[in-house]
Amino acid sequence: RKYQKFALIIGVTGIVGNSLAEILPLHDTPGGPWKVYGVARRPRPPWNADYPIDYIQCDITDPEQTQSKLAPLMDLTHLFYVTWANCATEPENCETNGKMFTNVLNAVIPNAPNLQHICLQTGRKHYIGSFEAILAKKMVHDPPFHEDLPRLDSPNFYYTLEDILFKQVGKKEGLTWSVHRPGVIFGFSPYSMMNILTSLCVYAAICKHEGAPLKFPGTKEAWNSYSDASDADLIAEHQIWAAVDPIARNEAFNISNGDVFKWKHLWSLLAEQFEVENGGFWEDEEGKRSLVEMMKDKGGVWDEIVKEKGILGTKLEEVGGWWFVDIVLSNEGMLDVMNKSKEHGFLGFRNSKSCFVSWIDKIKCSKIVP
Ligand code: NAD
Repeated sequence: RKYQKFALIIGVTGIVGNSLAEILPLHDTPGGPWKVYGVARRPRPPWNADYPIDYIQCDITDPEQTQSKLAPLMDLTHLFYVTWANCATEPENCETNGKMFTNVLNAVIPNAPNLQHICLQTGRKHYIGSFEAILAKKMVHDPPFHEDLPRLDSPNFYYTLEDILFKQVGKKEGLTWSVHRPGVIFGFSPYSMMNILTSLCVYAAICKHEGAPLKFPGTKEAWNSYSDASDADLIAEHQIWAAVDPIARNEAFNISNGDVFKWKHLWSLLAEQFEVENGGFWEDEEGKRSLVEMMKDKGGVWDEIVKEKGILGTKLEEVGGWWFVDIVLSNEGMLDVMNKSKEHGFLGFRNSKSCFVSWIDKIKCSKIVP
């Protein structure tokens, strides 16, 4: 079959990389047929093996390896950058993530003469600051967030990535870009560094195994207030739209589901899915709640569950991103607006409650949890 476009996904086993790998090769995907290459650091996992893509194992922190594996992809027309590294401090994040992105662009831009567009995924921390800034309660913009808000005055690796992008695309005539800013992502990937749904499923499975109620480990404000989420398939559709529709060229866009929910409502769905008692909002005598604390001795329990239920062999620290859940469930009201995407013609949306349940199904079907 003759391909119209040639895509390279950097971070193909990640939460959005997984959705791009599933959607891009479909016969009715806009701009297609697409030939798809996908890069990740580890060997190809079994849950990725069915996608019709060329899997390339490559560590993009290594400039020589990146050159040798990506420079030969001379047919590329589109690059989807959906990866990151998590360092101890934000200045380190800026340095490491900046180098990774530069390594990829240095390998691809000079060697792919037909390269047309680069999609860069960053996120809502563009408006609320790095995790470091959030934990230090530094100033954030007043929500709902829109794309025209100015940058915050603190280090942020998203700003570093954008600056590298703007500089590099300027070097090649006709090369365009788009930046995609999701909030908390609902999706599938046991290899994701921040996957709230996998983590919550693992927590629920542990509660079930121990006969304990499923207590909400966040704040009362997060339990009661409006939140939103970004479905991983919707983000992939948004990136593909921006990659092929000229109206989206050289713009940054928010990307969220377009509705709101309350965690207290999703919590009862989670309890139902795992047939466990809904423990609701809860705090200990000192008013503290933290999954990092609650899960710190549960490695052995998880090993037991894996063995007993015959699910995929994972370690608790691989599938439970407790630090991330603690941050998400202690923030409230951090909503964005989708007006700019709609005004530019992207009308995609998701029902957050339905996608919450369907991703849980997928996580169960893939035997990440029982
Ligand atoms: P992820 O953690 O789900 O996936 C990362 C992917 O990159 C994996 O395939 C991994 O194997 C690969 N990878 C990591 N290091 C690599 C290396 N050195 N060489 C090659 N491949 C490597 O990614 P994500 O969560 O989609 O993150 C992408 C961007 O989205 C980040 O900037 C992140 O901050 C942002 N974001 C994520 C969320 C979320 O809920 N996950 C929410 C908002 C914004």
